Amino acid sequence: MGKLLQLASHPIELKAALKLKFCRTPLFSIYDQSTSPYLLHCFELLNLTSRSFAAVIRELHPELRNCITLFYLILRALDTIEDDMSIEHDLKIDLLRHFHEKLLLTKWSFNGNAPDMKDRAVLTDFESILIEFHKLKPDYQDVIKEITDKMGNGMADYILDENYNLNGLQTVHDYDVYCHYVAGLVGDGLTRLIIIAKFANKSLYSNEQLFESMGLFLQKTNIIRDYNEDLADGRSFWPKEIWSQYVPQLKDFMKPEKEQLGLECINHLVLNALEHVIDVLTYLASVHEQSTFQFCAIPQVMAIATLALVFNNRDVLHGNVKIRKGTTCYLILKSRTFRGCVDIFDYYLRDIKSKLAVQDPNYLKLNIQISKIEQFMEEMYQDKLPANVKPNETPIYLKVQERSKYDDELVPTQQEEEYKFNMVLSIIVSVLLGFYYIYTLHTA
Ligand code: MG
Repeated sequence: MGKLLQLASHPIELKAALKLKFCRTPLFSIYDQSTSPYLLHCFELLNLTSRSFAAVIRELHPELRNCITLFYLILRALDTIEDDMSIEHDLKIDLLRHFHEKLLLTKWSFNGNAPDMKDRAVLTDFESILIEFHKLKPDYQDVIKEITDKMGNGMADYILDENYNLNGLQTVHDYDVYCHYVAGLVGDGLTRLIIIAKFANKSLYSNEQLFESMGLFLQKTNIIRDYNEDLADGRSFWPKEIWSQYVPQLKDFMKPEKEQLGLECINHLVLNALEHVIDVLTYLASVHEQSTFQFCAIPQVMAIATLALVFNNRDVLHGNVKIRKGTTCYLILKSRTFRGCVDIFDYYLRDIKSKLAVQDPNYLKLNIQISKIEQFMEEMYQDKLPANVKPNETPIYLKVQERSKYDDELVPTQQEEEYKFNMVLSIIVSVLLGFYYIYTLHTA
């Protein structure tokens, strides 16, 4: 009921939720001739582990859908081993370091997780994953194996790193390296899969910073948001180099008298995350195939919305904060075009700026960083130039011109959805008016 009321009080989001549910036709369906029972089981596992992510993957182009599903499940399996504190130390290290070798087998599964481990089914039913994995093109298999190898070994290294386990992440460089292992590597693998599928230009992989930023922007946003939850679990990923500028101990931010310093630290971390935004937008402008574009864009627009929500927000220090369900629906629909994504970033950057106080120690730096991004967004379109001035054909301008052709192809679909929505709305209103008319006749 609370959620319904929340939706009703935000009409734009209510409209988006209804449109998403009733008026939109998915780009692709998971049911085609190639859907074997094992693959269906993999989709079930995907649904079990992440509902929101599953919804986006299921709509991917068939060329990429299966391999991204399996990539996700394999990394989820790895993470389920890493997170399980009941697995004996040496066995865990061995499993993590050699997990990629299991992908060479035709039969393998693992039943050693604690009974209450949330995603243990991914490991007990790993055989279905292996059967489908071996059906993938060898190029796709190689990428997945390589990333699994790097990530598994990265996880093992962190478990064995005494300094990290005792003191957490020290420098901003440590923070970036940690985020590289948990998210940057995923960006690396996904970019290669997208290029093999020929859904983006090859050059996308030549600039490592771009795909690294795609992962780091998401990961850093989650790390900032999860301060309270992570500390309650006895861990934290905020780098000491930043938080120690404000308090001697990370948990001090929970004290009422240190709250203001906590806000300043959050804003400092947001400034750090905003350094990835120009890369993220450049990356998105390079993806052409529509379902892949949506797959890449949705998490990024959710991240900028979350970053604006956590900015200067004391609730982060005391509990969980989350963007509204209706906002998510709105963002999913709007981020289908590149222009929509740019508008979303623009909106939330303004929101951050509006919450930035002059007293904030990073007031100047945040303003400079946001202005830099805004200038970059203007360069992308250059649509506010006087009539006689020609646009400056910079690389990003040309890239966005190219991407805009794909945006244009989506216009008829959006118009059709709007038409369907208006039809449904007018039917509902007519029926209600009809009932009201009959009611007044009877009571007159
Ligand atoms: Mg983990």
